[in-house]
Amino acid sequence: MLTRSHWICTLAVAISWATGLGGWAHGDERSDPLLDRFNRGSHSVTAFEDVIVVPMDSKRVLPHQTVIIRSGRIFAMGRTGEIDIPEGAERIDGRDKYLVPGLVDMHFHLFPADGGTDPESVDHALALLVANGVTSARSTLGSPNHLEIRDRIRTGKTFGPTLYLASPPLHSKETPTPARVRELVYQYKTDGFDLIKLVLKDRTDYDSAVVAAREVGLPIFGHVGAAIGIEHALEVGQSIEHLDGYVRVVEEDLKRLAGLVRATRRANVWNCPTQFFHECLYSRDLAKVGSYAGVSLVRQSVRDEWNRQKTEAIGKHADKEAELATRRRIIKALRDGGVRLLVGSDSPGDFRVPGFAMVEEMRSLHRAGMTPYEVLDSATRLPADYFSALREFGTVEVGKRADLILLNANPLQDIDAVLDQAGVMLRGAWLPRSVLDDAAKRHAAALF
Ligand SMILES: [Zn+2]
Repeated sequence: MLTRSHWICTLAVAISWATGLGGWAHGDERSDPLLDRFNRGSHSVTAFEDVIVVPMDSKRVLPHQTVIIRSGRIFAMGRTGEIDIPEGAERIDGRDKYLVPGLVDMHFHLFPADGGTDPESVDHALALLVANGVTSARSTLGSPNHLEIRDRIRTGKTFGPTLYLASPPLHSKETPTPARVRELVYQYKTDGFDLIKLVLKDRTDYDSAVVAAREVGLPIFGHVGAAIGIEHALEVGQSIEHLDGYVRVVEEDLKRLAGLVRATRRANVWNCPTQFFHECLYSRDLAKVGSYAGVSLVRQSVRDEWNRQKTEAIGKHADKEAELATRRRIIKALRDGGVRLLVGSDSPGDFRVPGFAMVEEMRSLHRAGMTPYEVLDSATRLPADYFSALREFGTVEVGKRADLILLNANPLQDIDAVLDQAGVMLRGAWLPRSVLDDAAKRHAAALF
């Protein structure tokens, strides 16, 4: 049996495919203005002049900085006036603006090729991520065609963030023996997946996957079935989605929360709570879900269908406010206990528009009691650490990949500032707000 949240999560994705079928626009990839702009921009030289840098290496801001970008990397950074701006560089006025690392959506669904889905929907979703400052994403439900999508992005044929790919999920039903599980883990490593996704209910299968993943050097993450149990998942170091395992234990006995937090910290286990996904799913307020960021860009007929399904769900299901409060309590306790949390949108889905949903998750985590700095840390530096790629991205430092967002306000004071973007830099290519707004409109209308 799958865990409840997995079932819901999978169902939500399935519904969004079903409601979207036949409705996707067919754009011409070759004339994609974002891709053209990216391919021109990624090789150019850009200077952010007199900008306030929020480096995210610690809780500080660096005023009056000039940052030079060259060949997709942060080439130089220092006090304005002390840094030479190369001739021919595109100059961006950074006065009173904040330069922060690009965001990483740690729970994102690339559509599978065999899902009966228009492959162009993938392009729409990827564009929406970048249009909201998401410059890297972890795909959490693998499919063989994702390897090709990642290659197309790497080679400039598809516009999109840097992708980290989970393997196809290991289910007990489809992987009947521990030997088969082991074989698949080795296969996924050879194929080129970055992580092993676990949805195994059988303990022997699960342990076989854990050992094999360790042998091939791939991290494991995913759901925690009842037969596995949170304690065992912590023991083997699986990183955990949706607070699986915690909610049930804490609902039964609140006194066990402190012990669970300590065990999680001791095991150094990562958590991706996907709180916004649960708020969205459990909300009984049509006006509220309709006001989530990005939803107004979705076609009216699709929104009507979302509303119809939401109304039906409200009639069928019990109030889940208590569970949402428990989740908030767990998030806060984990954070205060030094556990590393990640920001994941669990999009696309009903009322969850890629990219916009990432910012909504940041707001949700803030409402759960995390400070703006902690939330931003969970969306930038910590994911890079998760992928053992801190030398590559995650902070604003010389040598790192030029994945950046220019904000009109200070995100350390108000997390909503993350929505107020003057522009995004994707691997060295500058995309100003007007371009992003246009892209968000087009792709949100076409995706669903
Ligand atoms: Zn999901």
